[in-house]
Amino acid sequence: MAKQPLQAPKGMHDILPQDQPYWNMVRVASTRVLTDYGFERIDPPVLESAELFLRGVGASTDLVEKQMYAFKTRGGDSLALRPEITASVVRAYIEHGMHTLPQPIKLWYQGPVFRHEALGAGRYRQFWQVGAETLGDENAVLDAEVIQTLFAFFLELGLSDMLIHINSIGDAICRPNYRKTLIAYYRTKQERLCEDCKRRLAANPLRLLDCKEFGCRELRREAPQIVDHLCEACHAHFREVIEFLDETGLPYMLDPYLVRGLDYYTRTVFEYFLEGGDGTGVDEESRLAAESALGNVPRVTRLALGGGGRYDGLAELLGGKPTPAVGWAAGVERVIEVLREREITPRPVHMIPTPRVFLAQLGDLGKRKSLKLFEELRHAGVSTAQAFSKDSLKAQLHIANRLGATWTLILGQKEALDGMIIVREMSSGIQEMIGLDKVVEELKKKMHK
Ligand code: AMP
Repeated sequence: MAKQPLQAPKGMHDILPQDQPYWNMVRVASTRVLTDYGFERIDPPVLESAELFLRGVGASTDLVEKQMYAFKTRGGDSLALRPEITASVVRAYIEHGMHTLPQPIKLWYQGPVFRHEALGAGRYRQFWQVGAETLGDENAVLDAEVIQTLFAFFLELGLSDMLIHINSIGDAICRPNYRKTLIAYYRTKQERLCEDCKRRLAANPLRLLDCKEFGCRELRREAPQIVDHLCEACHAHFREVIEFLDETGLPYMLDPYLVRGLDYYTRTVFEYFLEGGDGTGVDEESRLAAESALGNVPRVTRLALGGGGRYDGLAELLGGKPTPAVGWAAGVERVIEVLREREITPRPVHMIPTPRVFLAQLGDLGKRKSLKLFEELRHAGVSTAQAFSKDSLKAQLHIANRLGATWTLILGQKEALDGMIIVREMSSGIQEMIGLDKVVEELKKKMHK
């Protein structure tokens, strides 16, 4: 019986050669902008101990409870494929004693994350995030700086119509009171909540504000807003962030119900949408459903392209010293989908540069010797192409022509025996014979003429 061809796991995809120019565009933009803003790159491992996310992100969050790929290794360790990267960065900060360096520490990353999500437009189970984190300082100017950095990243890619949704969710001092007020509000309306929210009400009431169910969205309209319940310090911090944003002229809107799904956030939280994307509508999900039913609005443009916030308590949750911090992550696949939709095309990236030289070989000895010669040419900086699997000279010259090589080297059986090689100038067809031991130097000279 013929075997079924295998496919990539659901929600996970190949980034094919033809996709790479987009990915490269994102890589170039993120590297440029984040380097300009003084962030240094960090690459934590893709696997971490599951406990990192249980403690850091929160055991009762959807991200950990429902979406995390966690497993036991053969040795019995509990590991997880990272569902986000902030917790890893903070772990690394603590593990490598970065608190002893001048603060703040500014780090950025780019890499895959894994979430067992329900699939849909712009929702994958492996997707890439670009992110930035500023650790070790609580100054509100740093909140504004990271927000501006994310804006600059989108701008660099040609996405200038972003709208920032921003809110403050307070801290360990003021949030407990707000929680109580929120629970009291929802208790009286409990029977109208979805099943998930009924369950969440006691453990994580802020999450109710985040629920996408229509009924819960409706109830949210009248819910108490956290901005009205911030303690003085959080209020002052938020006001400062907003003042800085006003100075920058970045387009933002206050979104009193933005909470974000993770436990570690304190104070500032924000998300980036395309302008007119999420909009301000309370029942945006039903609008989405209607729009996608009409088939005229690509849904991915309605999803958040990036988000983040302040997480002043995370380092302590992970066993470190108190370390105020703020950061964000943007989803690369979603950004690329928007670029494609808008027909913002990347400059072609020649991963393999146009070769100046093509190395053709004939016969066993020619083929055997050409592997070594190819490496010598490459090492000497002579950009060379080859087609070692081909035997006929005609086929190889055809490829050399197609690639636009200036010279083709022909290493035949006889030449190889004599320690010689033919250099053919492709435009004129003129050929000369050179000693095999001199050919690299000769080509270097020719190239610089
Ligand atoms: P989050 O911290 O969960 O808001 O994630 C940061 C960014 O990652 C989001 O703003 C999205 O752009 C992207 N993202 C989140 N979940 C997914 C997913 N399942 N598939 C693709 N991109 C995602």
